[in-house]
This record gives sequence, C-alpha cells and structure tokens, in this order.
Amino acid sequence: MTYEIDLVVKNAFVVTMNKNQPQAEAFAVNGGKIIAIGSNSEISKEYSNAKKVLDMKGKFLCPGFNDTHTHLLSMASKSKDVLLDKVLSPEEALEKIKERVKNTPKGKWVFGDRWDESNWEDKRYLTLTELDEIAPDNPLYIRRVCGHMAVVNSLGLKELEISWDEPDLEIDQETKKPTGVIASPLSHRVADNPKLKKTQDDLDEAIPIANELANSLGITSITDNLPIMCVKSYISARNKNQLTVRVNMNIPLDSFDHYLEAGLKSGFGDEILKLGGVKIFTDGSLGARTAKLYDPYFDDSSTSGDYYIEKEVLFETYQKAIDNNWQLVTHAIGDEAIDMVLDTFERINKPEIISVGRHRIEHAEYLLDEKLARANKLGIVLSMQPNFPGRWGRPGQLYEIRLGPEKYKLLNNFRKIIDSKARLSFGSDNMPLGPLYGIWSVVTHPIDDIKITVEEAIYHYTLDAAYSSFEENIKGSL
Ligand SMILES: [Zn+2]
Repeated sequence: MTYEIDLVVKNAFVVTMNKNQPQAEAFAVNGGKIIAIGSNSEISKEYSNAKKVLDMKGKFLCPGFNDTHTHLLSMASKSKDVLLDKVLSPEEALEKIKERVKNTPKGKWVFGDRWDESNWEDKRYLTLTELDEIAPDNPLYIRRVCGHMAVVNSLGLKELEISWDEPDLEIDQETKKPTGVIASPLSHRVADNPKLKKTQDDLDEAIPIANELANSLGITSITDNLPIMCVKSYISARNKNQLTVRVNMNIPLDSFDHYLEAGLKSGFGDEILKLGGVKIFTDGSLGARTAKLYDPYFDDSSTSGDYYIEKEVLFETYQKAIDNNWQLVTHAIGDEAIDMVLDTFERINKPEIISVGRHRIEHAEYLLDEKLARANKLGIVLSMQPNFPGRWGRPGQLYEIRLGPEKYKLLNNFRKIIDSKARLSFGSDNMPLGPLYGIWSVVTHPIDDIKITVEEAIYHYTLDAAYSSFEENIKGSL
C-alpha cells in the first residue's frame, strides 16, 4: 500500500498480550492508533510510506502500563512538599523538614509526605516534641505514606483546632502531652480541613507534572481516586487537550449523591477521560493497624483494626449504585473487611446484575481461599498492588511484624489468585508509582503463593487492567 501513514516501528521485541499473536517485530500507527502489527517484512512491505520510522534495535516493547489504583494528581500536587519516601531514619526526616522550615516565612504551613517508619532501623514515629523543636513558629502536617496517618506539631494542632482533650488524639502517658500522631478516624476528619487542601490553581499546575510522572514510567493509563477539585482539573486539562495519560476517575462516596443527581454514571466521558466508580472505604491499612481483621494484630493484641463504614450504610450504597449503573470500588484489606464486602454483595442477591458491573475490591490483601472463590463467583475485579508484598511482605518486613510469622504469608497470594482465573488488575497506589518495581516485587518474591511470571505481571498491568474499566477492547493489547 502506498498511502502515507504516521509511524512505523520496527526491529522491536514486541510482547502483544494478544493470545492469537503473542509476539511481533513491527507495527504501523496512524491517527494515534495501531493499525497493523506483524513481522518486519510484513509491515515494511505493507506500509512502505511512513512519515517516521523508528528502529528499536531489538528493544522490548509491550502495551502501555495501566496503573489501576493511583492518586496521581494528588501526588503531583504534593511534589513541592517535603518528600520523605527515601529517608532512612527519623533524624534524617527531621533534618529535611527543618531545612524547609528555615526557608519558609513564620506562620506558614509546612507539609511533609510519604514517611514510612517501616523502612527505618529505628521503627518509631516522629514526635510532637521533636517537631516543636525544629518548627516553633510554623504549623507542620507530615503525612505517612499510607495516607491514613500524620504527625503534627503544637502549632499544627492549634491551627487545625484540635484540642488536647479530643478523644481520638493520642496522648503520651508519661508527658501527658499529645504524641503528635493523628491516626484514623481523626486523620480522615482532619483531611477535610481547608487549611490542608491544595487550591484549584495548585491542582491545575500539577497536571503537566502528573503527565510527566506517568509517561516517564511507561504508564499510559491510570485509575485515579479523586476529590471533586481534582475532577475539575482533569476535565479542564482534557478540554485543553493537555492529557498525555488516559484517566479513569473514581469519585468518593461523600460526593456520590451529587453525581447521581446530575444523572452521571460510570463510563461517562471519552477514551481519554472518563468516570469510573464510586470509591468506598471499609477499613484502613495494615501499616496503621486499621485494616479490619478477625484476629488481633500480632504486635498489638489490643486491636484488630477498624471498620470505616457501617454495614447498613454499605448495603444501601451498594443498592443505590447498582440500581443506577455505577461501578463499586471498595477499599478492603483485612479478612473481616473483605467478608463485609462479599456479604453485602451476596445479600443484594442479584448475581447476574452484579457480575456485569465489574465491581472492584481495592487491595483485597487478606483474601483467603474461601473469599477468593466467593469473589470469583460474584465476578468481582481484584484491584491489587504487586509492589505491596515487595515493599512490606518479604520475611522480616512490616507484614510479618503485624500478622506474625505464618499469617503474613497469606497476604497477596497472586499465584493462587491467577490460578483461580480471577479478574486481577494491578496498580501501585503510588508506593511508589512505577510498574517495574511492582513487577520486580512479585517476580522475585520468596513466597511461592505470591511469586508469578513476568508475562503474568505484565498481563495484569495491561490487558486485564483495561478490563477493570470496561476498556479491554480499546487498549491493553497490541
Ligand atoms: Zn489508594
């Protein structure tokens, strides 16, 4: 054929995720779409007239990664905060915060983000006393990597109007002063405080940072979990044709009624930006000991985690969503929280309607065999994070500390999940963003029930990931 097309890519090691043609060497692109794929000779013969020819010199190529659980825009907007993810001790964290405080006018907030004491030899939280020492004149709010916890100084407490007798505030029994730790449920209430929020301008300015962050890691699609101001920024960026990553937007439960009232439903939008599902929390995280377990935590027998929603509220929300064609996206990590989700779907008792809805459980970490079977029967999509067992699930790491030497091996059992033919989509939850770390985590994992192959990991980061947003016919394979 002699008509001119935009691009030919040749001499690549292409893994297609298409069962009928798993590998290829070359493909042709026109109008932003791949129009043909095959061998070097097939493609160069058929499309001899291309504006651009890219010789990959044998490099690996696969469909763009689809990170199905991110907080990308929020992460991009925090890129100017003090980022503590690479810090290795409480002292180093304090040093970084102090440095920022020095360069910030008195009275102005200093925000920190992404500390993770489980990476520190000295596995403790920063304290209010330490933070007061380095920041006597600036309010501080320093978030933990899980997003469910933060530490503050005295001025931070004052600015947020949290008094010392606030029942959910942790008090140090020796000093009788607050420890500075803001854990859930207080952290969730505090998160809504306008003083901690980014402005619309902050978010708009973060769009190009978000594009760049995603694309530089091979990510071409994401599902982002978003408050309404972020939705607004994404829509305005889409209108200006500024998005270089396709975004599926999950909206929070507290704004669900507004979306319903407007007549919106899952899928509204186009191939670049669309509405996903309604995101609901049933519990917290293992790191913060708020994931809801049947048994107490191994390292703190006084708690077995928390429910974040009441059973009846969950039931009513599920009914409302299902009746109005909304996809349900439910955060559930502990075994008891996962049961709450499955029980609620089973109680609704409309198996045919539920299974076409591709309802998702986010994280689903403590998914024991019997629950996996029930989830599969309901047609649930498991939206899981291969980087979690890499970061926290190896011997001696956080999960073993929280659950003990036997039970921690039952978390994130990807081998069993894939063998059960479950629908499984991979995402990073920004910990860190970047599919290669997640793929490495599970491909090299020492626990047999977690370890999977590279091809499997890519499949769940591409084609099966597209299934989770009803898009397997337009992306995820070449
Ligand atoms: Zn998340």
